[in-house]
Amino acid sequence: PFDVLVVGGGPAGASAAIYAARKGIRTGVAAERFGGQVLDTLGIENFISVQHTEGPRLVAQLEQHVREYDVDIMNLQRADALKQVGDHVEVTLASGATLKSKSVILATGARWRQMNVPGENEYRNKGVAYCPHCDGPLFKGKRVAVIGGGNSGVEAAIDLAGIVSHVTLIEFDSKLRADEVLQRKLRSLPNVRVILSALSTEVLGDGEKVKGLVYTDRTNDTSHTIELEGIFVQIGLLPNTEWLKGAVALSPRGEIEVDAKGQTSMPGVFAAGDATTVPYKQIVIAMGEGSKAALSAFDHLIRTSAP
Ligand code: FAD
Repeated sequence: PFDVLVVGGGPAGASAAIYAARKGIRTGVAAERFGGQVLDTLGIENFISVQHTEGPRLVAQLEQHVREYDVDIMNLQRADALKQVGDHVEVTLASGATLKSKSVILATGARWRQMNVPGENEYRNKGVAYCPHCDGPLFKGKRVAVIGGGNSGVEAAIDLAGIVSHVTLIEFDSKLRADEVLQRKLRSLPNVRVILSALSTEVLGDGEKVKGLVYTDRTNDTSHTIELEGIFVQIGLLPNTEWLKGAVALSPRGEIEVDAKGQTSMPGVFAAGDATTVPYKQIVIAMGEGSKAALSAFDHLIRTSAP
C-alpha cells in the first residue's frame, strides 16, 4: 500500500506528490489527465516569479519536477470510488483495479460550465475566456461580454469594467441573481450595460479572434449581434467530485469541505485545489493547498502509523 495516494494530477496534485515524496514515504499519483486544466491554458502571467509561461510548458515542468522523486505516476486512470477499510483507504479505479493507501489526497479539480454554442470551443483562448483574474488584463481597452448574472458573473463584470473599455453583461433570466450589493455597484458603473432575458447563441470570429456575440432576446424572439473582442463565460465552475458523493462531505455546490489543514470528513483523507471549498481557483492557490494537504497527511501518518 501507499503511504500517500494523490488522486488528480493538476497543480494541486503535483504539489502534494512532491511534498509527500520529499518525506521519503511511498507516494503515488493517479490522474485521469496529468496536467489538468493547465493543459488547456495558453498564456499564464500570474504564476508568481514567472512573468510568462504557457500551459503545456508548465505541465511538462510539473511532471519533470514530480519525476525527480520516487513517485508512482499512474496517468490516464480515473478514480470511481473511495472508501475507508479498517485503518487504510481504498480508491477504486475505472479500470477495476483497487489502490490501497494509509492516506489519500483528493485533488480532482473542476471544469467550467460552457455555453455549448457554435464558436465557443473554436475561439477558446482566442477571445473566449473563463477566468477574469487570469485573462482580464489581455483585454485592456477592449470590449467584452460577461455571460451570467450570478455572483461570479457580476463580480467579473465589475472587475473587468476597471480594465476594459466596455462590458456587456448577458443574463438568461429576467433578473440578475447576484447579491444586491454587487448589483448596486454594477449599476453605478458608466461602462457597463446589462441585457436581461438574453440567450447567447453563437460566438462570431474571423478565424483568428473573436469578433462578436449573437444572442436572442427571449422577450420577442429577435436575434441581435454585439461587436466585441472578448467573452467571459461565468455560468458555473463544476467540481469533479461526483464520484465522492456519500463518501466525504460536500458543500451544496459539490465542493469537498476541508478545514484549515485540508482535512476532509473522512479520517486520513485530505483535499486540495479547485475541487474544494477553498475560495479563488488559481494555480498558485492550488499548489499552496496541495503542499498543505501533503504536510497534513504526513502529520496524520506519524500520529497513526506503527513505526
Ligand atoms: P485541475 O487542474 O483541474 O486538475 C485536476 C486533476 O484531477 C487532473 O489531472 C484531472 O485529470 C484529474 N481528475 C479529475 N477527476 C478525476 C478522477 N475521478 N480520477 C482521477 N483523476 C481525476 N489559473 C491561474 O492561476 N492562472 C491562469 O492564467 C489560469 N488560466 C486558466 C485558463 C483556463 C482556460 C482554465 C480552464 C483555467 C485557468 N486557470 C488559471 C485556473 C487553474 O488552471 C486552476 O485553478 C488549477 O488548474 C486548479 O488545479 P487543481 O490541481 O486543483 O485542478
